[in-house]
Amino acid sequence: MSIDVDPVSTTARTASAAAHATTVPAAPTTAPTVAQGTPEDARWLRRAVELATANVAEGGGPFGAVVVAGGVEVAVGQNRVTRDLDPTAHAEVQAIRAACREAGSFALDGMTLYTSCEPCPLCLAACLWARLDRVVFSADRHDASRGGFDDSAFYELFARDRGTWDRTRVHELRLPESTRPFDAWLTHAARTDY
Ligand SMILES: [Zn+2]
Repeated sequence: MSIDVDPVSTTARTASAAAHATTVPAAPTTAPTVAQGTPEDARWLRRAVELATANVAEGGGPFGAVVVAGGVEVAVGQNRVTRDLDPTAHAEVQAIRAACREAGSFALDGMTLYTSCEPCPLCLAACLWARLDRVVFSADRHDASRGGFDDSAFYELFARDRGTWDRTRVHELRLPESTRPFDAWLTHAARTDY
C-alpha cells in the first residue's frame, strides 16, 4: 500500500522548500512534500472545493471531498458534523463511507480521494484504513486554522507526549484480560482480515 499526499495548491512552497532542503530541515508540523498534482487532479480538486463551498450555505462545515477511480467519480462527501451531531462526520470520512458502500468493499485500493482541505489526523487515518492509493488536498492545515478549525493544533498535539496534553487526557490501564480480544480474533478461523 502506498499513500501519497499531494498538496496541489502548495507547489510554490514545495519548490521553495526543496530548494532549501540542504540547509533548512522541514518543520515537523509542515505537510509532507511529494509529487505535484496533475491537471486531472486540479479538476477533481475544484469539484471538492465546490462541494465544500456549497455545503456552508446548506448548514454544514466548509469541507468537501470526492473519491475517484479510473477518472470516474465514485462518491462525494460533505462535512455533516453540526447537521448530524456527529464529530466524526468529516467530508473525507463521509466520502470514504459512501465510496465503500458504492464499491461494496471496506478497501478503496486504486482510488484517489480529493479533498478541499488537508486531512485532519482523523481523516488521514481513515484514508490509511481505507487503503486509498492517493490523497490530494488544496487548502492546508494553516488555512483551516485561520477558518477556526483545530487541524493544525491536533497535529501539534500528536507530536507531543500525551502526558502534556491539556485536553482529552489519555490513560493506559493494563488489565489481566487486556489481550483477550486479540486472542479471540487470532483463534477465530472465520475472521475477515482487514
Ligand atoms: Zn477530518
